[in-house]
Amino acid sequence: MDPDEIERIAVLGAGNMGHGIAEVAALAGYDVTMRDINEEFVQNGYEQIEWSLDKLAEKDQISRGEADGALDRVTPLVDLEAAVGDADVVIEAVPEKMDIKKEVYREVAEYAPSEAIIATNTSSLSITELSEVSGRPEQFCGMHFFNPPVRMQLVEVISGADTADDTLDTIEELAESMGKTPVRVRKDSPGFIVNRVLVPLMNEAAWLVESGDATVAEVDSTTKYGIGLPMGSFELADQVGIDVGYHVLEYMHQELGDAYRPCPLLAEKVEAEELGKKTGSGFYEYEDGDGAQIPTDEVSEEIQERLLALLANEVAGLVGGDVADSAAIDEAVKLGGGWPDGPAKMADEYGLDALVETLDELHEATGEERYEAEATLRELADAGEGFYGSAEDDDATEYETLNVEVDGHVGHVELARPHRMNTISEELLHELDTAIDELDADEAVRSVLLTGEGDRAFSAGADVQSMAAGGGDPLHAVELSKLGQETFGKLESLDAPVVAAIDGYCLGGGMELATGADLRIASRSSELGQPEHNLGLLPGWGGTQRLRHIVGEGRAKEIIFTAERYDAEELEAYGFINEVTDGEELLDRGWELARDLAAGPPIAQRYTKRAMLAGRDDTDAGLEVESQAFGHLMNTDDLMEGVTAFMGDEEPEFEGK
Ligand code: NAD
Repeated sequence: MDPDEIERIAVLGAGNMGHGIAEVAALAGYDVTMRDINEEFVQNGYEQIEWSLDKLAEKDQISRGEADGALDRVTPLVDLEAAVGDADVVIEAVPEKMDIKKEVYREVAEYAPSEAIIATNTSSLSITELSEVSGRPEQFCGMHFFNPPVRMQLVEVISGADTADDTLDTIEELAESMGKTPVRVRKDSPGFIVNRVLVPLMNEAAWLVESGDATVAEVDSTTKYGIGLPMGSFELADQVGIDVGYHVLEYMHQELGDAYRPCPLLAEKVEAEELGKKTGSGFYEYEDGDGAQIPTDEVSEEIQERLLALLANEVAGLVGGDVADSAAIDEAVKLGGGWPDGPAKMADEYGLDALVETLDELHEATGEERYEAEATLRELADAGEGFYGSAEDDDATEYETLNVEVDGHVGHVELARPHRMNTISEELLHELDTAIDELDADEAVRSVLLTGEGDRAFSAGADVQSMAAGGGDPLHAVELSKLGQETFGKLESLDAPVVAAIDGYCLGGGMELATGADLRIASRSSELGQPEHNLGLLPGWGGTQRLRHIVGEGRAKEIIFTAERYDAEELEAYGFINEVTDGEELLDRGWELARDLAAGPPIAQRYTKRAMLAGRDDTDAGLEVESQAFGHLMNTDDLMEGVTAFMGDEEPEFEGK
């Protein structure tokens, strides 16, 4: 089916996932029928959509009209024939039970148009087995949304044994049209990508404790502050539900063998109904305790190596089994698990040979199957390569935390950690420093546009985890502060003018970064502020100095001392924001402004910036730069061009000469 022909989508199941998928589809403009087994369930799902759309409108993420329009497009139904009779695509999100799903497909096969594609949101069941009862295995695939679908960016699109490529292409385009990022899973393999990585990690964490080799605190401290994942392994298990992970693991054990044997510690928790947050206790106590309190200083190199070795082995299993390639695995885990880096990249950085050695040692010592190195991993390590080839393969700068491109005369730097609200890690600071140098050296670049990927944040501030990685060491903190000050200072003193286009949160370090730009525009719903005093910190990346030059010392003190959040219009009144736009117009306006500035006279712009900077605390010094520059400009072609164009009433074409 041609993706452009899709108009009507039927969602089966109005539960947790079903109502969320229906909402996402309706927001993308599709007519949606949402079906559940009785009036109460379907109505309940409909009300949850209404509530969620209302919240999005309240937060200005969509307009009231868009919310009403989306709700109008959803038809709640109990009659299956009416729900699927007209559908172009059917997305099934009924309970995770093979027999229930099969029963549903038998009925769908009867009523849905023969050209309709059927997609299942199953987290673990076999796509191939389900496809067999659908009556159209070629038009059947997995479309695995993450919870909650409205907020989670990732959709795994999974092929069954008989799925046609065309079907996968169409479903991927459908996911894209819903504003999601699809990742293709080429083979129907248990756990697909994200669970195949996360669940064995949880299992290994449990084995580490079970065997007495580590404590829960050590494992979580290492996972969070050593490896840098968003949560400790046990913290994540508690969050997701220990039973949920355990059941996926049991399924993997059954399908993939003993390497996935669930650790008894997990079974004990499930039996005791200590399932994590939802039952008030799991590996941590939530009802009668403080929840997951993870120490920053119990990081262990040995645990880190063991967890990374396991992760590398899972990646190798997926790559070797042709389920997905390294880039797809990394993208899926970053988006689905909120990881700062993907497991393939982390393993490469650590060195595959060291990880294979760790696996070999563990295998020798324990005989456990899960430590048996995958052939793919061993081959790569033996060849001195990583999942991404050898380091010397490529000499273009590859950024992990930024997207950097030059479009015409505009250098575009996009903070690219949307899964972490574009928070600023140490790595991002280093990469930004490199990107600024590269753009500065690029003759074509005459202005820079700075944005944040996604629609939630320009940057929500410093990445607290990356800060905590220094273990609270004051010397490390001083260095980190200097690194931020210098990097943002480099941006501020870049020859080309810089425009920051702010959409969403612009807080703390994010606001200090924006302060380094020359002009700032923001969408109406953006929230800005310097909340550091709330944490007993101070803005340490230039905030105590640079902000006052823009808003004046009185306002700067107000912003820093109150630590309040401001909306874009308030900060426009303070002079911090130059222009406020509607959300959907922000990027276009940012590009327009950056292009306008890029068409300006480069030499005059450069010296204006230099004179202003030099004169900040020393007007005489600034005036000296100004007069010298004024003289210098007399000899430029740009001046001739400007004057000639002015006399002829034409647009000047400056060349920076
Ligand atoms: P849920 O229990 O919240 O919702 C399932 C809904 O399906 C219920 O409202 C139920 O009444 C309804 N239902 C039962 N039989 C039906 C039928 N014959 N026709 C229509 N509706 C029927 O479950 P959920 O969490 O939404 O999970 C649904 C699917 O999504 C499962 O396959 C699950 O594995 C998958 N999934 C869940 C998550 C998650 O985090 N919850 C994430 C990704 C995928």
